[in-house]
Amino acid sequence: MKKTFNPFLMAQEQFLKAAKKMNLDENIINILKEPQEALEVSIPIKTDSGKVKVFKGYRVHHNNARGPYKGGIRYHPNVTLEEVKALAMWMTWKCAVVGIPFGGAKGGVVCNPKQMSRREKEALTREYTRRMINFIGPLKDIPAPDVYTDSQVMAWIMDEYNKYTGNTTLGVVTGKPLAIGGSEGRHASTGKGLTVIVQEALKYLEMKPENTTAVIQGYGNLGHIAAEEMYKMGIKIIAVSDSKGGIYNPKGLNPLKVESFKQKTGSVVGFPDAKKITNEKLLQLKTDVLAPCALENVITSENASKIKAKIIAEGANGPTTPEAEKILLKKNVLIFPDILANAGGVVVSYFEWVQDMQGYFWELDEIHAKLDKIMTKAFWNVVDMAEKHKTDFRTAAYIFAIQKVAEAIEKRE
Ligand code: NDP
Repeated sequence: MKKTFNPFLMAQEQFLKAAKKMNLDENIINILKEPQEALEVSIPIKTDSGKVKVFKGYRVHHNNARGPYKGGIRYHPNVTLEEVKALAMWMTWKCAVVGIPFGGAKGGVVCNPKQMSRREKEALTREYTRRMINFIGPLKDIPAPDVYTDSQVMAWIMDEYNKYTGNTTLGVVTGKPLAIGGSEGRHASTGKGLTVIVQEALKYLEMKPENTTAVIQGYGNLGHIAAEEMYKMGIKIIAVSDSKGGIYNPKGLNPLKVESFKQKTGSVVGFPDAKKITNEKLLQLKTDVLAPCALENVITSENASKIKAKIIAEGANGPTTPEAEKILLKKNVLIFPDILANAGGVVVSYFEWVQDMQGYFWELDEIHAKLDKIMTKAFWNVVDMAEKHKTDFRTAAYIFAIQKVAEAIEKRE
């Protein structure tokens, strides 16, 4: 029988593996292995047909020892409380790995935004915000976009929050449109950050981008930018995919052309000069870099032995299960974990929050230079930690992050 996937148990397993390796104090383990608080809400909205539909929404606060809680909001039919708890915990480590002063949170609503009108999505977002009004805030918990939420959703949240507080508080969410306090470079930040990690990984392995191939699963905000940035670096993108399937051309794809095709047709599937391929087969292609950039639980014990990539750069949160990781590590695959590889988004979210709080906005080149510096430093910190503890990069990144969070907890006592 197929094992049911529980992302929170997976997040706890990853945490406990690192905690054991670093001999973490038992009291700190007990504090950090559970979220501090979780809110579950029912969100009734009037649909376009006139019927009232009630959606389930969550927001989880994992830990705020290092600063206000921070984390995205996901709109997806498969959202569960366990998933949101895992994502919140990963945010705590992610902020600590890159050294930005936030804790970890996450939100989610069980819904299918692809089947909702703009008005219904707006009503859902505003009602979710009203139910979360005491749970979020610029010095408390700052949401951002995640799967199937975007800058428009953030604009509605900010507007609704401001109606309730009576102030214009830009810093209550990040990933906003530029016109209302968004930051230059936020949209592309996760993809750019992932590309910095791939660039440093190639240096680490003494590989040249022009002799490197990459496969990318997921062609949303993160996936398509990562494909474009890697392509600009000289890497050959041989396959990409979205929820409808994948496309493959061993001679290379032009990601900009693929993106404009997807904009027109709604999918990468059908792109000319490429072979159609399933998402499962795409993961098993012979490639140097594999970047899962869609959802969690895609590299599992069932397909790990068939994966031929040398490097896995985790764009998505939680794409590799611990069982799969064991198999891949035995095959000497280098896995750059989500909490490091996709941290570019929260780094520029931090920049956006700083700019909002100061009311002073920076130029794009300044954002890019600062992002590059932080991601590069984090990469080599993790490599040093892996060498020091003779361990894999995920455990090393966890040890680095847990040390920072544990230190913050101890200093507050
Ligand atoms: P988007 O909603 O913009 O894109 C999600 C992409 O995944 C879409 O292309 C979607 O396909 C595809 N997808 C959905 N289901 C499947 C499936 N079963 N198989 C293959 N592809 C699928 O989300 P983001 O790009 O923002 O997020 C992607 C991942 O990156 C998530 O794990 C998220 O948590 C993580 N992340 C995102 C950050 C950000 O700043 N956006 C920051 C850090 C992490 P389709 O286009 O057909 O809908």
